[in-house]
Amino acid sequence: AKNAGRNTLCFFDPKTQINIAARVLMEEELRTALELQQFQLHYQLQIDNLGKPLGAEALIRRHHPERGMVSPLDFISLAEETGLILPIGNWVLDTACAQLKTWEQTARTCDLILAVNVSAKQFHQTEFVKHIKAMLMRYAIKPGRLKLELTEGMLLENIEDTIANMNALRKVGVKFSLDDFGTGYSSLQYLKRLPLNQLKIDQSFVRDIITDSNDRAIVRTIIAMAKSMRLDVIAEGVELEEQQQLLVKKGCTNFQGYLFAKPLPIAQFEALLGK
Ligand code: C2E
Ligand code: CA
Ligand code: CA
Ligand code: CA
Repeated sequence: AKNAGRNTLCFFDPKTQINIAARVLMEEELRTALELQQFQLHYQLQIDNLGKPLGAEALIRRHHPERGMVSPLDFISLAEETGLILPIGNWVLDTACAQLKTWEQTARTCDLILAVNVSAKQFHQTEFVKHIKAMLMRYAIKPGRLKLELTEGMLLENIEDTIANMNALRKVGVKFSLDDFGTGYSSLQYLKRLPLNQLKIDQSFVRDIITDSNDRAIVRTIIAMAKSMRLDVIAEGVELEEQQQLLVKKGCTNFQGYLFAKPLPIAQFEALLGK
């Protein structure tokens, strides 16, 4: 089996065979989860430098009948590989837009912006722009209240199409945030061409900002970059007051992290706003 070559599937390796069987089973599981409506969105607060709620990031979970709440880290990559991310992603967008519609009815929540994670496969579907527009029409929500979180890697694939699609959605008011910023390879050159609204500083830089001067320098650079491109900047993974204070000192204006709120089921999220 060792000589089979890197790109050749070896069907006789018993270990590989077990892996394939396990994967088929997991894929079946994921399909079942969708059918049985076991997915849920949790909402994590995003605030400005005065502590005012700006909105939330929607984060998917699976409520498993025996295993309890399952993290997206345990199923999103399989969903991407199998294409199941398309129906799952549609469910996320649909649920998020329905939530925005509900928020519109109350003064306290009517201006909140909801950020939704979009995967590469979803974003590169031919019908993506049409699909988002149809969703916004169906729920009749102000497009400016929907923010799509994209990652650097997926934007690099087919940059011309990416820019065209983003521009088409920007034209109707949809917002874009560049997630996990600083972990990819983007050059300013191409970043400049993307119609973004926000850079999201990856939590890996926030984590050690107090002790690691390299991370502090990176954060400073990201914020300067955002300013020069007239983009908002949000820090994720803020857990400590000292981290927030350092971020404020460097000019960061928006925040998200356990320090303010964990991702919460909708009822608890709304209760948090009501305080
Ligand atoms: P992400 O988009 O980078 O989301 C941020 C992750 O950090 C979330 O993990 C969140 O719960 C966690 N987090 C928030 N605040 C803190 C903090 O203060 N400290 C620490 N240590 N962690 C914090 P989660 O919910 O497990 O999601 C993991 C990843 O799964 C997300 O990373 C995103 O890439 C993916 N994901 C989640 N929901 C969706 C979705 O609806 N669609 C797609 N395509 N991907 C999703
Ligand atoms: Ca995100
Ligand atoms: Ca992130
Ligand atoms: Ca991430």
